[in-house]
Amino acid sequence: MKKNQLLREIDKRRLWHPFTQMQDWCADDNHEDPLVIQSGKGAVLTDVNGNEYIDGNSSIWTNIHGHRHPVIDAAIRAQLLEIAHCSALGFSNRPAIQLAEKLVSFFPKNTLSRVFYSDDGSTAVECACKMAIQFRQQTGQPDRTRFISFDGAYHGDTAGAASLGGIGLFHQRFSFTGFQVTHLDSVAALLQLDQSTIKKTTALVIEPLIQGAAGMRLWPEGMLHELRNWCDENDVFLMLDEVMTGFGRTGTLFACEQESVVPDFCCLAKGLTGGYLPLAATLTTEKVFEAFLGSHEEQKTFFYGHSYCANPLGCAAALGNLKVFEEESVLEKMPKKSAVFHQAIEQAFCGHPAVREIRQIGLIAGIEIAGFNRKEQIGGKICLRARKYGLLTRPIGEDTLVLMPPLCVTEEEITKSVAALLQALNDVVGG
Ligand SMILES: *Cc1c(COP(=O)(O)O)cnc(C)c1O
Repeated sequence: MKKNQLLREIDKRRLWHPFTQMQDWCADDNHEDPLVIQSGKGAVLTDVNGNEYIDGNSSIWTNIHGHRHPVIDAAIRAQLLEIAHCSALGFSNRPAIQLAEKLVSFFPKNTLSRVFYSDDGSTAVECACKMAIQFRQQTGQPDRTRFISFDGAYHGDTAGAASLGGIGLFHQRFSFTGFQVTHLDSVAALLQLDQSTIKKTTALVIEPLIQGAAGMRLWPEGMLHELRNWCDENDVFLMLDEVMTGFGRTGTLFACEQESVVPDFCCLAKGLTGGYLPLAATLTTEKVFEAFLGSHEEQKTFFYGHSYCANPLGCAAALGNLKVFEEESVLEKMPKKSAVFHQAIEQAFCGHPAVREIRQIGLIAGIEIAGFNRKEQIGGKICLRARKYGLLTRPIGEDTLVLMPPLCVTEEEITKSVAALLQALNDVVGG
């Protein structure tokens, strides 16, 4: 106990946590805080005191098959016996090559065919944007430098990726940096866009089927398909940010499959390694790739990269992740599991006086609560309370509770998570 208390004290003295008001974090009013995680197994996390919790938001949307999955663990161990990292500038490595071939195989022939590796969702998007601008410069359309994105969008926190974002609290402060972006609220707004803006646009960027950070907001059915057509008619790239939706979360391996849409750029991260290691991939077409070919003097090279591009350990983890999808028929089990999940949530929260709306797809649920002052930080209080009942999760904004367990979650764990969240909600709002 003493040792753990010391850990917490050092954390408060030395760390700066993401998306966290550190004044609250460092406040000394709860000896259990911060919660320090010691280990994990499957969908369960264990803290340094031995308390167990269901990982109710998949460790912020990353984990896919659970923690310490033997197949992914073994893939990483095997790679460690070879090498942990070597540069992708001037060399290649086996797992990176095998993973690229595998990723491309999930898309129809002659569509997405090239894989550019980076580290995070933000860099996957940043990289796609730079490719989309440089492509235009090298194909006689240098004026097409702009992007179209949507209100409520979240594409990451680096300056370029953030400029595509549409969440005021995160993005407004830095709105003078980044790309030139037209922010829209709907397809209707897109259809009214003036020709001069369209002719200056290189790509339209969207989180397919569901916006995550906006509060798990579902797009209207058919929208993605409509966007694909609009992009084709207007010579604008369709760039899909599958960073959150990728790897089975919505029920299919990629969300875009559900509307039979193939983008010109596809950004993958979070679940790519099963939630083990930071690795990202930007997939694009041969058409885009070929516009960067030329002699050295032509300077068409894509001068972009990160130290850890194509990191072998990350690529090995990603291969392990995909192997589990195959070996355990994970996607085949999704319809039944999602149905159980949706039903449990509907049963618990539908008609609850504090619940305004329930939004679900696959193993993602956003439960919007209403009737509270934002200053009360009610969502945070409910999630903190849920710990008491063995569930860890975080709200989005202050009003959307999220349940988004790893795909390996059992029916029993689903029941337990939903009960924990409901009990916490009732404790806090007095239901
Ligand atoms: C999390 C997220 C990102 C950013 O990914 P990081 O790995 O955090 O940089 C980008 N797009 C979407 C849709 C995300 O959910």
